[in-house]
Parts: sequence; C-alpha cells; structure tokens
Amino acid sequence: MKKVYLDHHATSPIDEDVLKAMMPFFNQTFGNPASLHIMGEDAKEAVEHAREQVAEIINAQADNVFFTNSATEANNIVLNCFDSILTTNSEHSSIIECIKHLKKTKHIKAYTLKIEKDGTIDILKLRRLLSSNRPELFSVIFANNEIGTIHNIYDIGELCAKYKVLLHTDATQAVGKTDINVDEMNIFALTMSGHKIYGPKGVGALYVRNPNQLDPIIYGGFQNTFSSGTQNVPAIVGIGEACEIMIKNKSENNRIESLRNYLWEILSSELDDIFINGTMKNRLPNNLNITIVGVQAKVLAMGLDDVIVSGGSACQSGLTKPSHVIRAIKSPHPDCAVRISLGRFTTEEEIRYAAKRIIETVNAIRSK
Ligand code: PMP
Repeated sequence: MKKVYLDHHATSPIDEDVLKAMMPFFNQTFGNPASLHIMGEDAKEAVEHAREQVAEIINAQADNVFFTNSATEANNIVLNCFDSILTTNSEHSSIIECIKHLKKTKHIKAYTLKIEKDGTIDILKLRRLLSSNRPELFSVIFANNEIGTIHNIYDIGELCAKYKVLLHTDATQAVGKTDINVDEMNIFALTMSGHKIYGPKGVGALYVRNPNQLDPIIYGGFQNTFSSGTQNVPAIVGIGEACEIMIKNKSENNRIESLRNYLWEILSSELDDIFINGTMKNRLPNNLNITIVGVQAKVLAMGLDDVIVSGGSACQSGLTKPSHVIRAIKSPHPDCAVRISLGRFTTEEEIRYAAKRIIETVNAIRSK
C-alpha cells in the first residue's frame, strides 16, 4: 500500500482542478496584473475573480480581501498595527512569535487568555480581560491547528463589539470546514492560507473590514495589497479556485467526520489508556488528537512509517518540547499527544489500514 497521509493540518495535496486552473497563468496569461496593457488586464481580471471566490467562503465583499504570501504574513500584518493586543495561550506560532517580537521592539501591551482544559474559551474570563485591559485587538484562532477545537466566534464577536475591541481571527484551519460569516461574527480581520484547503503553498488571504486601519509591512510594490511585490497570479488563482471547490464540496466534511469517528471507534475499542484531547462538541471534522498513555507521540509517528501522522505541529517539529497547546489544556501526558488529520482524498480503506498500523505499533512500543 502507498503511504497513508493523515497530516492535513500541516498541509494538503493540491486538488487536480486547482492545478488545472493555475496552469495557464504560468506561461500563457502570464502578464503582470499591474501592467496597463491587455496582458496585464487579463492577469488582473484573474486576480479579481479569485478575490471574489475567497470573499464568498467567508461571506465577505471582495473589496475587503487582500492577497498575501502566507497566513503567517497575514497574521503579522494585522498584529503589527496595534499597541495593545489580547490573545490566548493556544495560538499558532505566527501569532505567538510575532507578539513576542512586537513586545521587544515596539513595547506593545500584550495580554493572554488561558484556554480551558477541553480547549474552549470561558466567555466570562474573556469578558473580564476585555473589560479590565481594554485591548485594541483580540486575536484568537478560529479552529485550533493541533486539537481541532472550534471557538464560538459568534459569542466572542458579540463580546468584542460590546467592549469596542477589534476581533482578528486566524481561520487558516477553519475555512471551508465550518461556516464563517465575517459580518454576523463581527470579525474585523481574518487570515487564511491556500495550502490547507488543497490549494498552493506560498499564498494567503487577509480579510479586513476597514483596510485604512492596517498598514503594509513591505513598501514599494503593487497597490491594493499589504504585502507588496508583484502578485503571484498562479497562486492567487489557486487559492480562489480552492475556495470555490471547498464551497461546492461542503458535504465532504460529513464524510470526513464519519471516517474520523470510525478511526476513533477502532482505536478506542482496541487500545487501553487512550483519550481524546479537546472537546468533541465543537471540533473540526477532520481532526483527531489523542493521547496514548506511555507512548511518546514522536516515537509513534516515526514507528508508523507508511502512515503519516504528526507528533507535534509542523511548526513545532524542530522543537523537542511538547506543544504549547497540549500544555495549555494541562494534559497529564504532554509527550503522548498525537495529531491525526484526515482530508478530501482519505478513504475508508486507508483508515482501516492506519488503525491497524497504529494498534500494532502502540502494542510493540508498550511491550518493550
Ligand atoms: N495559522 C494556523 C492556524 C496554521 O495552522 C498555519 C499553518 N501551520 C498557519 C497559520 C501558517 O500558514 P502559512 O503556512 O500559510 O504561513
């Protein structure tokens, strides 16, 4: 059997139809969208179409969508414009590290909300922090990239509106997997990435309600972006197409969720001392994050060989420390949390095979 890829939170394979849509923009419609001639116009038209496709998946207006080189860059653009920011202890490293940098270089005020043991946000604690610190911005991940928990952005948005705090959400893992409506959720800024939704790497998008409130981080390039530089038209076409396919394929989430639940059923019936990290109530359909007591996630991930899972998020994999998210939920076995994330092309046969390999490998590790 070929490799079974169950690490879609790290990245996803590009969809064939996305690739097909991108191809002409490498060497046929290759104009610079900033050029005023017909070749530039054609490229610009493709960028504007992609802007509409991206806007649709978050129920926004195209004018409020800007392309970036990654979600990391989009997150940096947003944070860079504020002097006092509240965030949580379970954010992606592109938020955590950026805040650290801004504290050092611009002496911004930064506050942290601790998440609960099930990965959720206690709205009363949030209210206390918003009312006592009055930050300019609350930046919170929409759906966690490790434990898959989805925050209640409706309630959070309402609270932010009450305290006149702008809400930024990193929706990189959430887009297309759960409904997002930027107006109804009172979202000021939202960030996302192409390669988590079967689009290309190296392209992201930033929604912002009022673009005048943000500044570019790089100067000197094309208008109408915050990241500058000549726009990467094939990648922009790719993220647009990826969004359109996500919208059309919305029901794939039910299929993926059933497969995820099936995997858990097999594992939990065959293995002792195993539990799920984070609530199952409001969770990404493709995420299973489990602790297998006594089995280090790193050792399991390596031992699995042809079944690809994560013993820590890709951004953490160089580190030997257990993930900050697993520590944030106060897991008693932080080294033993393994992240399994399914995708569009995952089959039932693959899930059966993965379950068999996980069970064999865990039993082998435990019997040593
Ligand atoms: N935010 C979250 C929640 C993510 O999961 C990731 C990817 N690991 C990023 C941001 C960064 O995305 P990109 O690779 O586009 O910079």
